[in-house]
Amino acid sequence: MNLVIFGAPGSGKGTQSEFLIEKYGLFHISTGDVLRDHIKRGTEYGKIANEYISKGLLIPDELMVQILAAVLDANKDNAEKGVIFDGFPRTIAQAEALKAVLAERNMEIGAVVGLEVHEDELVERLIKRGKDSGRADDNLETIKQRLEVYHNQTKPLQDYYIAEGKYRAINGQGSIDEIFARIIDAVDNL
Ligand code: AMP
Repeated sequence: MNLVIFGAPGSGKGTQSEFLIEKYGLFHISTGDVLRDHIKRGTEYGKIANEYISKGLLIPDELMVQILAAVLDANKDNAEKGVIFDGFPRTIAQAEALKAVLAERNMEIGAVVGLEVHEDELVERLIKRGKDSGRADDNLETIKQRLEVYHNQTKPLQDYYIAEGKYRAINGQGSIDEIFARIIDAVDNL
C-alpha cells in the first residue's frame, strides 16, 4: 500500500505520517525533510533548495522528481513494504511524474489522504511550530507565501486525485487522536 498524505502547510501531514508509519509499517518519504537534510549537509541540491525554501516557493519540478526518485532507489527494500509520500506531489506535473516513477518500479498510489483545515488555524499552527521548532520558513511572511503557493499550485491536485477516484477527504481539525481515527477509518475501507 502506497499513500500520499496531502494538505496545506500546517495541516498535520508530518504528525499523522508518524502514526501511519507505526500502524501500517510504511516507509516515510517527506520531501521537506529530505530537502532540509540536503541543506544541513551542504550538498549542491541543498544549496539550490535553500533559495526556494527560504522564499516559501516550490523547488522546480524536474529537480524535485530527480531527488525523490533517488530516495526511492536508495531505499528499495523499505519502499517495497509501502511508502507514505508526505509533501509530494505538490503540482500536477509532480503527480504525473510520480505515476511514471512508480509504474517503472511496479508500484502505484493506493489513496490520497487529504487533511482539510481552515486557513486561520493553519496560520496559527505554523506560527506556533516556528516558535517551538525554530523552522526558518515558519515566519508570517513566508507562511503567507507558502499558503498562496498551496492554493495556486498544489490545491488543484485535489480535483486531479478525485478524478482518479483516489482522494479521501479527512476533517483535519480536532485532536491528533480524533484525526488519526478518521484516517484509519478511510484507509481500512479502501
Ligand atoms: P514541507 O516540510 O513539506 O512544508 O516543505 C518545506 C519546503 O520545502 C516547501 O515550502 C518547499 O519550498 C519545499 N518542498 C517540499 N516538498 C516539495 C515538493 N514536493 N515540491 C517542491 N518543493 C517542495
